[in-house]
Amino acid sequence: MKTLLTIGFAALTFGALATAAGAAGIKRFYVLDCGRQIVKDQSRWTPGLNVGQPREFSNNCYLIQHERGTLLWETGVPDSVAMVREGITVANGAIVMFRDKTLIEQLASLGVKPDDIDFVAISHAHGDHIGNAKAFAKSKILLQKLEHEFAMKMIPKPLDDGQDVVMLEGDRDVFGDGSVMIISTPGHTPGHQSLLVKLPKTGALVLTGDLVHFQYMWDNKLAPPFNFDKDQSLASIERVAKLLAEHKAQLWIGHDKDHTAKVERAPKFYESKRVSHA
Ligand SMILES: [Zn+2]
Repeated sequence: MKTLLTIGFAALTFGALATAAGAAGIKRFYVLDCGRQIVKDQSRWTPGLNVGQPREFSNNCYLIQHERGTLLWETGVPDSVAMVREGITVANGAIVMFRDKTLIEQLASLGVKPDDIDFVAISHAHGDHIGNAKAFAKSKILLQKLEHEFAMKMIPKPLDDGQDVVMLEGDRDVFGDGSVMIISTPGHTPGHQSLLVKLPKTGALVLTGDLVHFQYMWDNKLAPPFNFDKDQSLASIERVAKLLAEHKAQLWIGHDKDHTAKVERAPKFYESKRVSHA
């Protein structure tokens, strides 16, 4: 059974239909379920607002199949959390992390093994993003040099010593055609980065990492209160706002559950004329 993908995407793609130069190299773009988090008090992200109110965060990873290789953006909550039905509590009790499906099983259902993935790029080294990085032993790991330094001070280390880490110092055109660009957006952590993706049909998107955690923060230009550098965060938000205007791009906020409810997750994918149903 196959259905046209275009249904339900008019709002998301409005104004972003221009085909960018080089973007045709992207063959498929998948959104994977990379966990969810229940936060006890959402005012931790919005000081003074909704004090004491819980909130659920979504968590997405993104698989990009390009004619020159495959990129996984984010690895999400550790797959081991899927074994724990009641979730794993972190951040001194402030956050409970869940995983309904493992990353590895979702990739397998798409016919993808970890060793098939050429590049793994991660927005930052917090556990809900870098959680499965060790599973990608043969991939090139694209991290900012500053983020790698930050990550390797953690106990346990989120990467194995032998992994092939490409130390970035700024932006990176992953496939050399401008279709997938890592954008340096420091502030939340020392080497936080975001991803600009120019999809041939859907148009340009910026995947935020934790530049902001939900739409209200973006609309009000709020940096997370627990942050490496607030001024850097605000400058990074400003930079991404300019990129959105320049590329007529949509902002995809991975932790925003309302946003995630509007996008199609794997096994459906963007950029084919049709959606496949597993
Ligand atoms: Zn996060």
